[in-house]
Amino acid sequence: MTGGSWTVLGAGSALPRSGYGPSAHLLRHASLDGPLLFDCGPGTIRALDAQGVTLAELRRIVITHFHVDHCLDLAALAFARRNPAARAGPLEIFAPERLREVLAGLESAFGRGAVFQDTTLRPLEPDAGAKGLQLDATRLRWTPNGHTPDAISVALDLPDGVRVAYTGDTGPCPALEDLAREVDLLVSECSFPDESPVGGHLTPTSAAELATRCGARRLLLTHFYPMLDPRAALRAAAGAFSGPIELARDGSRHRL
Ligand SMILES: [Zn+2]
Ligand SMILES: [Zn+2]
Repeated sequence: MTGGSWTVLGAGSALPRSGYGPSAHLLRHASLDGPLLFDCGPGTIRALDAQGVTLAELRRIVITHFHVDHCLDLAALAFARRNPAARAGPLEIFAPERLREVLAGLESAFGRGAVFQDTTLRPLEPDAGAKGLQLDATRLRWTPNGHTPDAISVALDLPDGVRVAYTGDTGPCPALEDLAREVDLLVSECSFPDESPVGGHLTPTSAAELATRCGARRLLLTHFYPMLDPRAALRAAAGAFSGPIELARDGSRHRL
């Protein structure tokens, strides 16, 4: 296989909307030892199954921040992995340092059933993101983005020269522009309409401006709240970004 794909498992947000589940995304690439999951909002383990990814195949997860719509299915995943039928193997979770505290909270709420087995936690220190770390032949980089005190955006440099960035949740952020410089695909949150912006999030126009400023080749809009019509988002974003714009929907697959 040449290239790879970015599959949207959850194109929505914290509020319910049919066809737009809470945040989760899947990167597949021939050079990676298995798929890489980004965020794990409610419904993720069912969405993984819909994409043919078994719990045994899921070996690595990256979490951008600890809002429920990005991480709650970690509890469901830990519980499911303990079932012998899952045949779960080693798992690595890459996340801001507070992951340890969040997982301890899941244990105190749900008991031993929500404790991850055979799992290594890989803290993503805020200052280490420019150098990043190596996942097989791919480099993972990140930067704090200010959405929450420890929220991050991430970027991947794939061995075939393709670069991808995923904003997670963020407002406009100069460090994110540097992180995502000249990426081939910018997967950007696009939460609220231009007419009614909310702090700490992007709108179609501010997501498009981010894509333009960082020199992205393509823009994939995701994380739509119900008050934003994705087709209207596409029209608005096209006014501030001249490259191709794609719309996420649960299950949509985008080539790399
Ligand atoms: Zn969110
Ligand atoms: Zn958030």
